Amino acid sequence: MTAHLSMHAHQFKASHDMMAMMDDVRLVRNLAYVNGKWTSGEQFLAVDNPADERVIGYMTLLSQQQIYQAIDAADKAFVTWRQWQADERARILMVWHDLIIEAKTDLARLMVMEQGKTLAEAMGEIDYGASFIRWFAEEARRSYGETIPSHIANAQLATIREPIGVAALITPWNFPCAMITRKAAAALAIGCPVLIKPAGETPFSALALAELADRAGFPPGVFNVITGEPEMVSKTLCHSTKVKALSFTGSTRVGKLLLQDAAQTVKKCSMELGGNAPFIILEDMDVDAAVQSALEAKFQTSGQDCLAANRIFVPQSMYEAFIERFAEKMRQLVVGNGFEKGVDLGPLINRKAAQKAQNLVVDALNKGARLITCDQTQSTDYRQPWPSNFFPPTLLADVTPDMDVYREENFCPVAGVLPYQDLDIMLAMCNDTEYGLAAYVYGHDIHQIWHCLRALEFGMVSVNSVKMTGHSIPFGGVKQSGVGREGSRHGLDEFSELKYYCLGALPTVSGS
Ligand code: NAD
Repeated sequence: MTAHLSMHAHQFKASHDMMAMMDDVRLVRNLAYVNGKWTSGEQFLAVDNPADERVIGYMTLLSQQQIYQAIDAADKAFVTWRQWQADERARILMVWHDLIIEAKTDLARLMVMEQGKTLAEAMGEIDYGASFIRWFAEEARRSYGETIPSHIANAQLATIREPIGVAALITPWNFPCAMITRKAAAALAIGCPVLIKPAGETPFSALALAELADRAGFPPGVFNVITGEPEMVSKTLCHSTKVKALSFTGSTRVGKLLLQDAAQTVKKCSMELGGNAPFIILEDMDVDAAVQSALEAKFQTSGQDCLAANRIFVPQSMYEAFIERFAEKMRQLVVGNGFEKGVDLGPLINRKAAQKAQNLVVDALNKGARLITCDQTQSTDYRQPWPSNFFPPTLLADVTPDMDVYREENFCPVAGVLPYQDLDIMLAMCNDTEYGLAAYVYGHDIHQIWHCLRALEFGMVSVNSVKMTGHSIPFGGVKQSGVGREGSRHGLDEFSELKYYCLGALPTVSGS
């Protein structure tokens, strides 16, 4: 992380490129949003466009003192925000939602600039992100408690759901809008103020959401975006007794560090972590349909997706045919700047990500994988120093469990394929990972499909559909892919506590 020290915040504005593409330039913000005010730290961090590696702007880095102030402001705001009627909170959330939809093109442009994905993907993400706001605005009106048949004489027993308090939301760069709204909408709707720490690679999407939240009229302290040095900010949030919930989306490595820090204050934690999704093709599947689905499940967001197919299991009987047709389709994918028409895959987020992709390929080749050339230029030399953030779709056949591409979350457009003969042995291989986020099954035979569904140790299993996520489903993983669920009616649980009460009857005083 390269920070620039300056006392002159005005030097650290957004680049001309970024301002020029916006219809509404006020959406481009580089200061943090705290207690209803744009707040500058003393240091600024350069943010690059992954497509050309040029600086697009600078985000401010708040000091620890400023983080404490933000926590205090949110804690103060909780006193009143929790008392608003659910309908009233829903009304503001819906204004925020509508402003996001109105600003969709600008928000998508900002996202392409800082994240690199294609404009079409970015537009889709804004819709997806906004859908959580609408969902939770409606859902929080229905956060019912329950009555309990009493085991105590003359008593009424019941539960109510109460907002937990200030919520810290720490989010990744791969979905710079939706990973924020999926958390923030649930927390805000149920009555919790939020402190959002976006990834340093993609702060501008978060700050634009803050500008729209400001316009929507959230009371000061309810909606905050705090930018700063990740470890300091996260530790400060985790160690504060005023922060009651921690919701994190990111890598399993960082998730474990945060869980340790949050243990200091016994916080309620929800963790959406990494994945290693198996993509299973059953014997009775048509090869072309399997190829098309594998393509969609692998290459969205250039493979930088926790749901991306990470290991493609193909029946031995169709193995070579699958590889041939998959490679044919992969050769048609266009890699380029996300703003250009016809581009399917934008750049990876940074050089480190491209080098990781390269290392996965080299490791697999050293261990005996077969490289099927899909690069349109046919000139990629995977053993040379990597020259840019762009990485071609790469197909590795004959992948084995000792390879990193099989074991690790790929997060890049490298597709590892392997054959199988026995369904149960293959299912055991699918489960032989510390991850348990998502799995895909493609086939017709309902008995086999049901067998797979039951056997797969994953939080989400999608059968014959690449599209599995959305506002109404409980998104989340098992094992080291996470704790808790986002979206659906269960998403509110992460930001609320169940309070039980026992309402006894005082003995009647005789004569009264
Ligand atoms: P990351 O773990 O590196 O960073 C996530 C967040 O943590 C960022 O805000 C970052 O600034 C912060 N952070 C980084 N290092 C930190 C540290 N040492 N201490 C405290 N905070 C720190 O993840 P990423 O690279 O931004 O995102 C990619 C990962 O996110 C992948 O593993 C992907 O699977 C996961 N992800 C999961 C889901 C899900 O819903 N399960 C969704 C999207 C992404």
